[in-house]
Amino acid sequence: MATMENFKCMLCGHEYQELVEEGEDKERSCPKCRSNSIRHLKKRASQGDSDDKGKKTE
Ligand SMILES: [Zn+2]
Repeated sequence: MATMENFKCMLCGHEYQELVEEGEDKERSCPKCRSNSIRHLKKRASQGDSDDKGKKTE
């Protein structure tokens, strides 16, 4: 069974999704700059990354 996984290029910062077969572990390369410094991102339920910015009361 294949699932959509998130990847991020460590070189240019490009994030993309790719279909990954279960148990597959092939080498990947960035679709933008062709670097093979690709990081496999874990899935997140929600995106609350930039929450800190709105915490100032003044
Ligand atoms: Zn890249």
